[in-house]
Amino acid sequence: MTTTAKEFQNHIGGKWQSAQSGKTFPNHNPATGEIIGHFPLSGKSEADAAVAAARSAFDKWRLVPAPKRGEILYRVGELLTRYKEDLARTMTREMGKVLKETRGDVQEGIDMAYYMGGEGRRLFGYTVPVELPNKSGVATRDPIGVVACITPWNFPIAIPTWKMFPALVAGNTVVIKPASDTPLSALRLVEILYEAGLPDGVVNIVFGPGGTVGEALLHHPDVAVVSFTGSTESGRHVAIEAAKSLKRVSLEMGGKNAVIVLDDADLDLAIEGILWSAYGTTGQRCTACSRVIVHSAVRKQLIEKLVPRIEQLRLGNGLDETVDVGPVINASQLDKIHSYTGIGKAEGATLVTGGSIAREGELARGHFYHPTLFADVRPDMRLAQEEIFGPTLSVIEVASIEEAIAVNNDSKFGLSSAIYTQDINRVQRAMRDITSGILYINSGTTGAEIQFPFGGNRGTGNGHREAGIAGIDVFTEWKVVYTDYSGKLQKAQIDQSEL
Ligand code: NAP
Repeated sequence: MTTTAKEFQNHIGGKWQSAQSGKTFPNHNPATGEIIGHFPLSGKSEADAAVAAARSAFDKWRLVPAPKRGEILYRVGELLTRYKEDLARTMTREMGKVLKETRGDVQEGIDMAYYMGGEGRRLFGYTVPVELPNKSGVATRDPIGVVACITPWNFPIAIPTWKMFPALVAGNTVVIKPASDTPLSALRLVEILYEAGLPDGVVNIVFGPGGTVGEALLHHPDVAVVSFTGSTESGRHVAIEAAKSLKRVSLEMGGKNAVIVLDDADLDLAIEGILWSAYGTTGQRCTACSRVIVHSAVRKQLIEKLVPRIEQLRLGNGLDETVDVGPVINASQLDKIHSYTGIGKAEGATLVTGGSIAREGELARGHFYHPTLFADVRPDMRLAQEEIFGPTLSVIEVASIEEAIAVNNDSKFGLSSAIYTQDINRVQRAMRDITSGILYINSGTTGAEIQFPFGGNRGTGNGHREAGIAGIDVFTEWKVVYTDYSGKLQKAQIDQSEL
């Protein structure tokens, strides 16, 4: 497996190939600035070649029995397990999150491989009674064709597996364009797919900018499905462009997730959940908590307990097992996060801790930001409404559960929410009235399991879900087959008087 080579290639039609231009772009370690590798700076011609390879491979792959396709995914699961530690270290070097989190990222891929491998013997359709004698009907799932997977950098293995594995087990072929900040993890995953026995051309990977490689995929007539995860801004663009050729599009986009802490909450438990959800992955999870909506009766106590815990979080290189919070992904993201500190202050929020770029010692080599807490945040402030995607948390005070739920729902995003309370009646209310795709009771906003549907509402998604059985839907087309064995013309759904 390729771990040390400095220059990497696209994988198209079973062959490793450089960009036609010969140009490359560097992949940086955000903790140190070190260059990890150089990747092909591809464009439209490489994207077109990858789609052609996937289109050609589709004719055979769709005819491979689904249980056999699933067996390849089982082998992928075994290989991911064997290489887990190495993959986790590669991922930490390339995107910064701490090792226990990158191990978790690979584990999601393992779980998804086994789950979707099992789908090879399910892929449930259904049959129901038909209204005429000597006739049957069955609804089955067909693969659709070439799936373009466009993925972000924050879960560089997990998210590609959420897209590729259901697409593959259903009989589709794939072109993946991973985020330019995390090409190596995606490349390693593709290597593993081929080591597991995937036929040539069934998965193709093309590196390069969203603005060229991604655009080419959105506009290619032979791409049938676009599965995109990334920012809401890019997702909206993807939806508009892909709609022009009526592609099926699945979008998983931004979040502005909240933890609600009511006056009867176990505060110590809530603090554990808030710390993990807000500062884990340096706040760069789509499900990261960036708002704490707290009842006024416990606001002061919560902040007093939370602040020392935030200040104890250890910043540093994620390869160091004693580090809690790694770097943010790149310099422009660091600037964006810092700009929100200025925005928050200008809006009148109170900066309680953090709020600065970390430049102490070794940290100066990377993109580190001190874990930040704002209090006195109003629900309509930009701090409370816009996705920052960094270690910045806002505390919003409310007077009741009704107000807490209203503030939670007053967001253009709708991915994940959490509520801390001991009262079963309040739990039931939250379950009924909170309008996000995921809700945690007495736990933080992160920690989705792959056997359940994952996704969100409003600006977070466009109605599709990834993972679980629901994750198959976007990659299959329903086909209903009626068999009439009566030997005569029978007319269904016609008024009896016409028969
Ligand atoms: P991004 O900038 O939108 O990029 C996502 C992917 O889209 C990258 O591969 C990017 O390529 C590509 N892209 C950019 N412009 C494109 C275009 N014009 N046409 C086609 N593709 C294009 O997002 P990100 O910064 O990588 O990821 C962070 C965002 O993802 C956050 O908003 C986060 O909430 C969201 N996210 C959501 C979920 C979820 O499941 N809801 C999960 C994880 C992350 P380049 O890298 O080459 O620019």
